[in-house]
Amino acid sequence: MTSSRNGYDVVVVGGGHNGLVAAAYLARAGLTTLVLERLARPGGAELASPLPGAVVADLELDVPPGRAHAPLPDLANDLVRAVAPTLLQPLPLERDVRAQVDPDTWRDFVTTPLGVTLESRYADDAERGLVAAAALDGMFASVHDESLVANRGLLYRLLAEGTGGTDGVADVLARSAAGAGAEILTSAGVSAIRGDDDGAEVSWHDGMSQHTVSARHVLSNVAPWVLQILLGGDEDPATKPEGAQLRVDLRVDRLPALRSGADPEAAFADGLVVGSGYAELQAAYDDAAAGRVPSVLPGRVRGRGDTITYLASHTPARLFEADPPGAKDLAVASALTTLDRYLAEPIRDRVVQLEARTPQDVEHDLAMPGGHRFHGDLEWPWAPNRARLDTPAQQWGVQTDLGSVLVCGAGSRRGGAVAGLGGHSAAHAVLASR
Ligand SMILES: Cc1cc2nc3c(=O)[nH]c(=O)nc-3n(C[C@H](O)[C@H](O)[C@H](O)COP(=O)(O)OP(=O)(O)OC[C@H]3O[C@@H](n4cnc5c(N)ncnc54)[C@H](O)[C@@H]3O)c2cc1C
Repeated sequence: MTSSRNGYDVVVVGGGHNGLVAAAYLARAGLTTLVLERLARPGGAELASPLPGAVVADLELDVPPGRAHAPLPDLANDLVRAVAPTLLQPLPLERDVRAQVDPDTWRDFVTTPLGVTLESRYADDAERGLVAAAALDGMFASVHDESLVANRGLLYRLLAEGTGGTDGVADVLARSAAGAGAEILTSAGVSAIRGDDDGAEVSWHDGMSQHTVSARHVLSNVAPWVLQILLGGDEDPATKPEGAQLRVDLRVDRLPALRSGADPEAAFADGLVVGSGYAELQAAYDDAAAGRVPSVLPGRVRGRGDTITYLASHTPARLFEADPPGAKDLAVASALTTLDRYLAEPIRDRVVQLEARTPQDVEHDLAMPGGHRFHGDLEWPWAPNRARLDTPAQQWGVQTDLGSVLVCGAGSRRGGAVAGLGGHSAAHAVLASR
């Protein structure tokens, strides 16, 4: 299928939830907008976290209320209070956020590896583990990592609380964007973007033939690493993100009974955090870093009716390189054994069907490089004090080296871990530049 015009105000490359958020905002503002999605349906990767309430309201989305995250102990409240109101605004400067935060909080959560902070603040392994597991969700890192990526993970996890609207949101967003006049083409894999600061051409293939359209603005919902290739760069293995999640989907004849005696429907709906004591997390990290599938696989397990999904951490793509089927079988076995520790009956007795996806499988299905669910490492949700903030794209943290091409997905500065922020930021940068 081809587009209705040869030129658009905006072409969005990729119809993940962020691309759809951007398209909905821009079409509502009256811009001619085309979304090109490689797969047969829009929506991208699964989205379990709620969209910010303001996005739901702005786009008049009819979505059910969000599922709450498992509660964490009180942490860094002043930091969260300082950052939360800025998320739907241009980036604040680091020094302006810092000025609102207690110096001890800043030191412990922004400049000291999270592991050091957890060990000094909590004596209890389970409490430390609860926070560490939330911080590391979706990443392969240690809480002691000097890059502070776990600190950033924790901050985004805390920022994602208290927002609304969740499952099935991709369809609602697609309807919202299309209802406002955006064109959404599926089975349209973009192969090249050529442009300068004032505009760009986007080429895609629909399985039958090649098409090209021009655009004043191109918004990239694909990962920055993929965008570089679409812009004519090389596939650079050294900078390729590495995802860390094994996903196991189980169909069961019924939800298994729990060792705690809790009602399985309620407990699986809330989600179980398994294998995630602090020492267990570190052991799993050490195993995986040494190239071994961890024997206890930390994970989040949700279930409803006859389905259970296990999202395991510390299963980086590198584990599945040498022997993909063998390592996958080993990791699935480890996940099921870990889950069994919480059950009153073996999960294998309940399983009717099992499907597992490694980071490589996610990459294959969704073109997320390395299967990395955040499209790359998370960045702080503020601009460095000396950052250049001359253009709206820089002010919103969505810039690339080309003025006409912006990032609108998880790979934008604040796009990774709070749903919809990448799309919201890019759309506002486009609107501010007009
Ligand atoms: C295993 C796993 C677990 C997850 N768990 C959670 C969770 O618990 N909570 C949560 O909120 N989110 C979760 N997610 C979602 C994820 O974390 C991201 O935040 C989210 O998918 C990013 O959305 P996006 O719109 O930026 O990008 P994506 O969802 O990656 O969308 C990008 C889109 O671009 C398309 N595309 C790629 N290449 C091209 C091309 N060349 N041409 C055209 N289209 C292209 C893709 O098909 C895709 O539709 C999970 C994802 C995975 C894989």
